[in-house]
Amino acid sequence: MTTESASAAVPGDFTHTIDGHAVGGDAAIDVVNPATGAVFARCPDASEADLDTAVAAARRAFPEWAARSFEDRRAVLGRFARAMGESAEALAGILVKEQGKTLAECRKELAFVPRQIERLASIEVAGEVLREDASRRVELRYRPLGVIGIITPWNVPVGIAVGRIAQALYTGNTAIQKPSPYTPLATLKMGEIAASVLPAGVLNVIAGGDALGGWMTAHPGIDKISFTGSVATGKKVVEAAASNLKRVTLELGGNDPAIVLDDVDPDAVAEPIYRAAFANCGQICTAIKRLYVPESMYERMCEALARIARSVTIGDGADESVGMGPIQNRAQYERVKGILEDTRRRGARIVAGGRVPEGGGYFMEPTIVADIADDARLVVEEPFGPILPVLKYSDVDDAVRRANDTRYGLSGSVWTRDVERGAEVAARLEVGTASVNRHTIPDATTPFGGAKESGLGREYAALGLKSYMEAQVVSVSPTA
Ligand code: NAD
Repeated sequence: MTTESASAAVPGDFTHTIDGHAVGGDAAIDVVNPATGAVFARCPDASEADLDTAVAAARRAFPEWAARSFEDRRAVLGRFARAMGESAEALAGILVKEQGKTLAECRKELAFVPRQIERLASIEVAGEVLREDASRRVELRYRPLGVIGIITPWNVPVGIAVGRIAQALYTGNTAIQKPSPYTPLATLKMGEIAASVLPAGVLNVIAGGDALGGWMTAHPGIDKISFTGSVATGKKVVEAAASNLKRVTLELGGNDPAIVLDDVDPDAVAEPIYRAAFANCGQICTAIKRLYVPESMYERMCEALARIARSVTIGDGADESVGMGPIQNRAQYERVKGILEDTRRRGARIVAGGRVPEGGGYFMEPTIVADIADDARLVVEEPFGPILPVLKYSDVDDAVRRANDTRYGLSGSVWTRDVERGAEVAARLEVGTASVNRHTIPDATTPFGGAKESGLGREYAALGLKSYMEAQVVSVSPTA
């Protein structure tokens, strides 16, 4: 991704959507296909003035949109969901080129979108009567906040954006959405689709680099930031948001542990564990990133995972025979390669994969690593790539202690035939979502977010929706 100025308007048919209109610009973002390493499209790069225009449009649209009932906004969002469903295949064709995941994964991300919008817009955000007696009736109500700035990463560009947009709009706010500069295109198209069904200014979608994210978090006309991305950027968001005490929800990185208990058949759990670790080339915030396995079945588990890894074909995600696409961008590719080199230097055992094919694309084989120390980069950091450390343990308490020995706390899982024991162990994980016999897949009905440095606040369910609103106490006394 590079940003440059051009005297002519940006070529190609990607535009911002501001106040219901398609807007171009002079500066452009080059978008690279990670399967080739080559630029394949360009889109406009928003200026600070574009942001001001979008904020002004969102502020103008706010009073009318906020005054509508939940039912009315639900109906409009239903139309948005249907329009997204009708465009899913076209969007998948764009997503596969800019993001790199397989076409099947792109289709899955986009198939989820209409359901996610509809489910979020069907949740009741109920007020409460806190006190009712002869002297007073005290109610807790929720009011929309105003304009929401939504900043998203490159791993699930449309799915994550839509989840935040649906919550912001359903609760009566208007919004400005900024995709990652690595994957702006399908999100810009989503902005066009939204403009065909939403009142002007309710949703503005503008592409830009990291600077645009900084301008948004500092902008006095934005009332809340919903940020999804890295821990390092999340901390900058909190600092900048202090300028007008914006509300902030942060969904940040994870280093999710999974603990296999000693009663499982490694061959039976290898497949779901592999999928939870390597889907989207390991680039999922809630991917399994550390796997703790009892000594008694350690070699069998490593081998079961390695067999699957060896069977996966890597290549351009647009080729439907491919099982795993490339790492999404060069910087991330270099980072994951650095972690792989460090893993080798430390003498860990590469059970499967470990090769980085030559060529323009950012490919790496799915890699299973055994016999690695707890203080290695691969174990301590969030790799966010196709490489999984398998860690040996002899005592469950020790596995839980090591699983919790991290600054991250997004989610975790326990794999066992004894679900009661599994639930007890899972509840000891210091994470936002702890599961038994499955790993986290966020959905509308369940609050999602991180403990420790993996986040602040929750998205989804009534808890998440209320974070897009201001709690207001209305206290009525019959007489003065
Ligand atoms: P990133 O933090 O580099 O970028 C995320 C977004 O923030 C991009 O749109 C970027 O342009 C913008 N940005 C950059 N600097 C900014 C600033 N100073 N102020 C405001 N915005 C700024 O993250 P990334 O590399 O795009 O994404 C990968 C990370 O996202 C991983 O750590 C992953 O775990 C995390 N993630 C978390 C979740 C979750 O729900 N918890 C979901 C997906 C990804």
